[in-house]
Amino acid sequence: MAFRTLDDADVKGRRALVRVDFNVPMHEGRVSDDTRLRAALPTINDLRGRGAKVILLSHFGRPKGERVADMSLAPVVPVLADLLGAPVGFAADCVGEVAQEAVAAMAPGDVLLLENTRFHKGEQKNDPALGRALADLGDLFVLDAFSSAHRAHASTVGIAKFLPAFAGRAMQRELDYLEKALGQPKHPVLAVVGGAKVSSKIDLLQNLVAKVDMLCIGGGMANTFLHALGKPVGASLCEKDLADTARVIMTSAVRNDCEILLPIDVVVATEFAANAPHRSVGLDDVGEKDMILDAGPQSVVALNAAMDRAKTVIWNGPLGAFELPPFDAATKAAARHCADLTRAGKLVSVAGGGDTVSALNQAGAADGFTFISTAGGAFLEWMEGKALPGVEALKSD
Ligand code: AMP
Repeated sequence: MAFRTLDDADVKGRRALVRVDFNVPMHEGRVSDDTRLRAALPTINDLRGRGAKVILLSHFGRPKGERVADMSLAPVVPVLADLLGAPVGFAADCVGEVAQEAVAAMAPGDVLLLENTRFHKGEQKNDPALGRALADLGDLFVLDAFSSAHRAHASTVGIAKFLPAFAGRAMQRELDYLEKALGQPKHPVLAVVGGAKVSSKIDLLQNLVAKVDMLCIGGGMANTFLHALGKPVGASLCEKDLADTARVIMTSAVRNDCEILLPIDVVVATEFAANAPHRSVGLDDVGEKDMILDAGPQSVVALNAAMDRAKTVIWNGPLGAFELPPFDAATKAAARHCADLTRAGKLVSVAGGGDTVSALNQAGAADGFTFISTAGGAFLEWMEGKALPGVEALKSD
């Protein structure tokens, strides 16, 4: 996948409009987790170092086109200034006179944050008038928010219609690793997909069976597959109406030479609660009142052996109800094995989407993975094989 990066951009003395994702967790008006601010530092420092004027744009929360005081980006300013070790200006609107005057006053190397783009109704509608007004503030556009790249909004793709567009450093890193995991991966590729429901991941499973060599299905969604194969699932979370869909996915896997790994044993309890009395059972021994809450130890052995054969692992979703110990055991054990193999240089591992990051963090395995995507929806859409509008806008001809 060829896309334009900051290496292709002439930035000296120019106004760089940078779309970041500063939709950070806040508590009582203060930034409570600065991970997303840190993620933007390489791009900001690169541009400043090369003499650009850096104008930052982001959405924050869901103000739905209205000015909502507690959804202002102003609290980000002091935290970002601290991280950068340099002053950061702020304009109380992302377009109009306030923004124009603040930009006009900038010198090369300065950093300015504009107010929440979602204070304007045109943002989520990708109104060309807003795209144009934003673009008027800059000479070039840098998209550094992969997590917003699945949304065709004025500040993600609208501006790119009017200005030359480049991937920022975080975006570039994300696209490079995603390409390594699914675009041009080293085979065999093993995908591990867990989570609650099949219904939210049908497109994803269908895309994966056509691309990967092995697909491990875990979590609540595995129950639907077990049910489709005629196994008892008792009182488990199970979308029985999707049994046909599960069968279509399994048939498609056979056609595409993709090996499906389902649990071969499971951990059951009669209560959905932490430390509920539980037992490991074979697939035919799930009782009527039992809930399958995790994959069993034999399943983990089989998954770990599949990882031993793989050169690439791509992971989304937990293998069990990981918030409730001990039903986090399979996710933890498998994630640690994946991290160990990665550290030993035996495979490339990429994970992302929704609960995956917290599950891997909880397992103490996240820092062993090659790359963890911070994006939720965008990561899933990419795993579904969809073209992301933000990425399309950066493709070189
Ligand atoms: P998702 O958002 O689809 O990735 O699903 C994550 C959620 O699935 C987590 O909250 C898990 O607790 C839940 N989950 C995983 N396995 C099971 C299971 N066997 N039964 C019920 N919930 C599960």
